[in-house]
Formats: sequence, structure tokens, C-alpha cells
Amino acid sequence: MNQKSATPKDAATVILLDQSLTEVLWAQRNPNLAFLGGYHAFPGGKLETTDAETKVINCEDTRLAKFIACAARETFEEVGVLLARNGEKLTKGQRASLHDDLISGRSTFDEILAHWNLWIDAADFIYTGIWTTPAFSPVRFKTRFFLAVCPPKQIPFAAISELQNVEFTKPLEALRRWKNSEVLIAPPVLLSLKELSTTADIRLGAEKLLKKSQKNDGQIRYIELNPRIICFPLKTETLPPATHTNCFIIGGEEFIVVDAAAREKNEQDALHELIDSLVEKNFVCREIIVSHLHKDHFGGETALQKHLFDKFGLRVSLAAHRLTAESLRDKVKIERLIEGDERFRLKDKTGEMFDLKVLHAPGHARGHLCFYDEETGFLLASDNVVGSNSVVIALPEGNMQNYLDSLEKMRNLPNLKFLCGSHGSAIFNAKGKIDKYIEHRLERERKILSALENGAKSIKEIIEKVYTDILPELYNLAEKSIEAHLEKLKSDGKI
Ligand SMILES: [Zn+2]
Repeated sequence: MNQKSATPKDAATVILLDQSLTEVLWAQRNPNLAFLGGYHAFPGGKLETTDAETKVINCEDTRLAKFIACAARETFEEVGVLLARNGEKLTKGQRASLHDDLISGRSTFDEILAHWNLWIDAADFIYTGIWTTPAFSPVRFKTRFFLAVCPPKQIPFAAISELQNVEFTKPLEALRRWKNSEVLIAPPVLLSLKELSTTADIRLGAEKLLKKSQKNDGQIRYIELNPRIICFPLKTETLPPATHTNCFIIGGEEFIVVDAAAREKNEQDALHELIDSLVEKNFVCREIIVSHLHKDHFGGETALQKHLFDKFGLRVSLAAHRLTAESLRDKVKIERLIEGDERFRLKDKTGEMFDLKVLHAPGHARGHLCFYDEETGFLLASDNVVGSNSVVIALPEGNMQNYLDSLEKMRNLPNLKFLCGSHGSAIFNAKGKIDKYIEHRLERERKILSALENGAKSIKEIIEKVYTDILPELYNLAEKSIEAHLEKLKSDGKI
């Protein structure tokens, strides 16, 4: 089941500077949003067909004009800032009324501009490149970035419910909060902040940003979740809608690699390139770990091990839980067995030691491991919680009671803030997400019980009553999931 990645949708974003040209505007996306909920980002959004109708002067490139129009419209919609010439004649109240016209759909942006004799001037927007959401995300955007200055007397605010905590901040301050695990930052925003933090006059950063985007062809190959954790999505044969498995590189001067799962040569090469760059900085790869036995979590670890030996003469051991090692005996030569919970002492990029907890968290698989950095509150949940699809609990590896116990153990981790599973993006509210998973399982259990009470005799009849919105290709997984629920209900003495 090899799924195609989602096609990126066109979009535009504005890096809005304050009048002193030293701060940028960012905002937190509402934590309840499905796409990057809780993340900090710049204002921006999807291109609309009406954007092509908006008149933009001083723009010879007509393809770019519609993105400038989109950037201006989104900035007005989301944070109430009107980046239009002649706009200074409007009062705050008039801007509010125009905003209402736009949001309610009474008028298009173009109509509003024309009616009030306002216009967009491309000279107010410095193009800083394109970035595309990585292929592992089920929702993807190909976003044009622009730099613009907030007009005097306009104060940005959260003009739509999708945003909160709208504020100007110095790029260095934004990065400090990210390093302290106070915020999650969308990948292209993080990249932009890093570039902009290196220059005093942020406008000068525009050129650097454009070069960076061109050098990378707008592609983001991996994501820095925080300074200690890199998420490197690798294409694997996994379950839809996921298309990738997240490989994690945890640490700095001393690091480990979890789930180097790619079997395709070009995917392996991309990962090796990143690992090589770390080794060339004299960072030490301590171990390569397989989180559990499923086929989308191994397949490239032996190639990575061989690569490190061939290229650098390094011997790095492969590790997994003992139960995983036993199951994979004929496929992967696991050299170090993990028995239960353990602590890994690693060094971050600054050479500071930190503890990474390795947690035995069975339920999805008997030897399933998760990884927790208590200091930054970041949990790598492997397949126990995932961003993009639901978790399969299938006998004989799966065990519903163990799974619920593992979820409970994860949610009670001290200082828990964020989590990232093996598929999809990192999740802002780790506890909330785990609570939803627990509630979902208990709800399913209640529905199965009620289906049985209402006369369902077979698993097929239970599925018909309980799983009303299931993809046909996931039907047999639903069967397995029901078996696991039935097993738990039997051992609880409820059936
Ligand atoms: Zn799995």
C-alpha cells in the first residue's frame, strides 16, 4: 500500500516587520486546528481564485502578483493589518468594517480596495522565496514568502478564531522560546527566524532568505522539533493515509538514530547525508534503535550501520527491545537488547549531558519503545500516538489493556508538553492528544459492548454497527482491532 503524497496547494505568507524593523509578527495557531494546531507561524494562507483579480501595481511578473494579493488579503483577514496604499486615510473603525465585509464574504478583497480607492503596490512586498510543506504531511502548501512593514498606527490583533497570541517579537527571542520548549514552530517559519536572527536590519535578511530557498529548491527535507531532536520523514510502505515513517535523530555531540526505516536507496542516501554531516562535526552516533517490529520501522538500519563503517570506520550497534529482536531474528541482527525502561545519557549540540528515557510501552506491539526527553518535555511516541492516522491494535502482537496502560504511562510523564509519533507532524498538546486516544478506545469498547447487547453475533456484524466511516482497505484492520477489544472485554469479565 504505497500512497502518493498530498499535492501542495498554493499559498502566501507575510513576514511582517514592526516600524523599527527589528521585530517580526508571529501568532499561535489555535491548538484545536487539525493542521499544525498550537504551532507558531506567520500570517498567511491559501491562494484563492479571486486573488488573481486584485490589482497589484509595479509588478511585471503577473504570476507573482496574485501571490502578493493573497499575502495582503491573508494579512488583513488574519491580523487586521491592511497592506494597501492610501490605507492611512481609513479610521480604525472603517478598517474593522471592511474586515467584516471581507470575512463575511459580502465583498471580495478586490471590491473593497476598488470601492475605497486603495491599491496594492508590489514595492511594499519583498519576495523571499518559496517553501513547500514536507511530503509526510497529509496537508501540504507551496508557500510564497514576502517581507513587508506594518504601516504606522495599525496594531495587529487576532482577527480570526484560528489565531491567538499575535505579537511582534525579535527573531532571537522567538528562537530562545523555541530552544526552551515553550513553543513549536512551523518548519519554514523556524528556518526564516534563524536566517533573520543573524542580521540587525531584518530587511537585509530578505536576500539571505531568498538564497536559502533557492539553494534548497524550496524543499524541507527534515524538521528540527527542538535543538535536540530532528525528525526525518522517510518514505516507507506504511498504512494509509500515512506515506512516511519519522526517523528521529536525538541528541547532538552524542546522538542516537531511531527507525532508520527507508528501504529505497535515495531515501537512505538523504538520511545518510544528514548523519554524515553530524559525524563530520565529530558528533558521535551512539546507537541505531528499532522502535518495534513492524515493517515500516526497520529496513534501513543495517544499511546505515554499514554506511558508517564503510565511510568512517565506525562501529555502531543496533538495539531494540528483546521481544522485537526475537521477532526480527531472521531479518535484522540486533546486537543490544533493551529489556524494559532505561536511561540513555546523551550530549546536546553544546556538549551538555541530558537523559533520554527509553520507555517500554507495549500494546501496539509487545516490544514497542517510546523515547522521552524530560527536560524539554518532548515525547517521541513511535506508533502509540500518531499525527496522521489511528493506531492499529492487532492480536497477537497487540494487546488492548497493555495499550491503554501504556497511554496512561505516557500521559503521566513529568513535564510532558509536546509529542511526535512515527507518522505525521508533532503535536502541541501531548496530554490532550493522549486523553483523546484513551477516550476514543473506551468509547469504541462501549459501542462494541452495546452492539453485542443488541444482538451482533460476529465480528462482521460488530464492524457494521461500530465502524460507520471506514476506508475499505482498512476493513481487515478494524476486524483485528475488534478482536483485541473482545479479548480485553473477556479478561475484564464483561463478556
Ligand atoms: Zn507499528
